[in-house]
Amino acid sequence: MTAKILYIEDNPQNMRLVRKILRSAGYDVLEATEGLSGVALAAREVPDLILMDVNLPDINGLEATARLKASPQLSWIPVVAVTANAMHGDRENCIAAGCDGYLAKPVMKNELLQTVATFLGQSVAPLASSGV
Ligand code: MN
Repeated sequence: MTAKILYIEDNPQNMRLVRKILRSAGYDVLEATEGLSGVALAAREVPDLILMDVNLPDINGLEATARLKASPQLSWIPVVAVTANAMHGDRENCIAAGCDGYLAKPVMKNELLQTVATFLGQSVAPLASSGV
């Protein structure tokens, strides 16, 4: 079964880039542009992995992650924070909020695919699909 990845991100360029990389690698991509709608979509679709922007227009990504991790139905889903905040302690804040991993922006294709594969428990990169 194709892995389903939810990306919660309010920046259209980042969304477009990550969507393209993930789809070309054969993943299903679900999208939300706000924290609350992202949490709601996660509850509805139960994705295999969540990529979480930290700066969002309503609740921030750390708060959204805390809500996901407070739900017994959703807490098992790995959440990888994706953020441009290179400030000292940012990574620690993400982990403290319950994030399972961390990716720095700008997103690099190989790093993204490696991280996704790791959290999905895959030892090899998935075959490319034509379903873009
Ligand atoms: Mn943002």
